[in-house]
Amino acid sequence: MIQSPKNLGPRTWPGEIPLTSLYTAGTGGQIFFHALKAQGKLIATRCRPCEQVYLPARSFCERCFAELTEQVEVKRTGRLVSYTLSYVDHDGARLRRPIALGLVHLEGATTLLLHYLLGVNHLTEVKIGCRVETVIKPKAKRIGSILDIEGFRVVS
Ligand SMILES: [Zn+2]
Repeated sequence: MIQSPKNLGPRTWPGEIPLTSLYTAGTGGQIFFHALKAQGKLIATRCRPCEQVYLPARSFCERCFAELTEQVEVKRTGRLVSYTLSYVDHDGARLRRPIALGLVHLEGATTLLLHYLLGVNHLTEVKIGCRVETVIKPKAKRIGSILDIEGFRVVS
């Protein structure tokens, strides 16, 4: 005889599972983060047949799946492709000041990089297409994280 679900009792049990994890950036990511931390450089990888320069560096081409071994340094300057302001945090709580995020095309890359837009508190302070510069933390403060980049500063 098959029991109906209501005869099975509670469907959930409260509890905790203590887990810790360590994520790796992968082969391409390691190249990017090492160069960012040690030299303050933005390293991409190129796929010549596809005419793509991936930033951050990747280990394979997303279009043809070829292994990417050619590293390219990308300039810190570029143009704003899109942007948004967030007025709430991850939990939906209202922020005292909005957080501005910019999607940027850095010179030399064919992909876009998303990061903070520094010093932007209102939508009228930026325009799509404006020039930006990547601000990288001083060497003593870099830890090999995407946050070694402070963000993008509007320069025009
Ligand atoms: Zn390719």
